[in-house]
Amino acid sequence: AKQQGRDGLCVYRQEMSAAADERLSQEQALRSAVANDEIRPWFQPVVDAVTGQVVSLEMLARWSLNGHMIPPLTFIQLAEEIGLIGTLWEQMLRRALVDFCAFRLLQPALKLQVNLSALQLLEVNFAARLQALIAGHGLPVDSVSIEITESATLDELPLAGQTLAELVGLGIGLHLDDFGTGYSSMARLCALPFDTLKLDRSFVQLLGAGDDTLARTVYDMAQGMGLALIAEGVETVEECRQLRAIGYRQIQGYLFARPMDGVAMLAWLGETHDW
Ligand code: C2E
Ligand code: CA
Ligand code: CA
Ligand code: CA
Repeated sequence: AKQQGRDGLCVYRQEMSAAADERLSQEQALRSAVANDEIRPWFQPVVDAVTGQVVSLEMLARWSLNGHMIPPLTFIQLAEEIGLIGTLWEQMLRRALVDFCAFRLLQPALKLQVNLSALQLLEVNFAARLQALIAGHGLPVDSVSIEITESATLDELPLAGQTLAELVGLGIGLHLDDFGTGYSSMARLCALPFDTLKLDRSFVQLLGAGDDTLARTVYDMAQGMGLALIAEGVETVEECRQLRAIGYRQIQGYLFARPMDGVAMLAWLGETHDW
């Protein structure tokens, strides 16, 4: 039995170290991706379903590694854990702002939405540095909005609330992402200076099953609070029709366009789309 126990421990140790090796190699790969500027901004449009105009673009992180596209959720979380998120994000945003200037030559009123980890709100002088970055590209500060997914961080850290207030003071829009999932609450919504809610894709999917209760409730609430709305993850004509019937105008999803790189985005903006 003693022998067996020792063997078991040995196997366990090997597995542990295999997991640790794997983690370490992921970390190294991510560090070198950031050092080599391999993580790029892609863009997905938000369309006004009433006028057919493209109102804004959302920046989405993409890491293309040996021909594979690594989804952002995996490496963003790792980047947060190893303290690399700020560097990664700023590098990507610099590229995105250059692209965005080119897009605005075609569509001068276009806006840019940028996803932010709540942790970044704790960086020293975050709001002022973002303002300088935007203005440094000759762009109006209010042409950029920040999107934050609700997380416990927002409640726990008073400094996060201070940064949000500073961003609003500068004219930078604040979108509450994935609204309706996780930590959402009325109290939270009233306490923080968001100007736009993004209706989560899970609520849009309910429309397909004939259930529009939640989409309607969120719409009425946003109207009452004077908040703008974007419905995300809209894939079908039917989903779009139902959203419009409720009153939603700003729509984002595969129905209109998938995320694309800057070159494809520029070409897409130059084309005429009939929908
Ligand atoms: P998100 O901000 O909710 O972004 C929307 C996600 O839904 C994107 O996934 C987009 O590609 C996908 N999507 C858009 N339209 C449709 C649709 O019609 N159907 C379906 N099934 N999916 C659709 P993606 O690009 O994989 O990004 C996942 C998440 O990663 C984002 O969710 C965002 O939370 C996070 N993320 C992306 N870029 C960044 C970043 O630069 N910083 C931070 N902190 N997070 C980021
Ligand atoms: Ca988002
Ligand atoms: Ca979302
Ligand atoms: Ca999401």
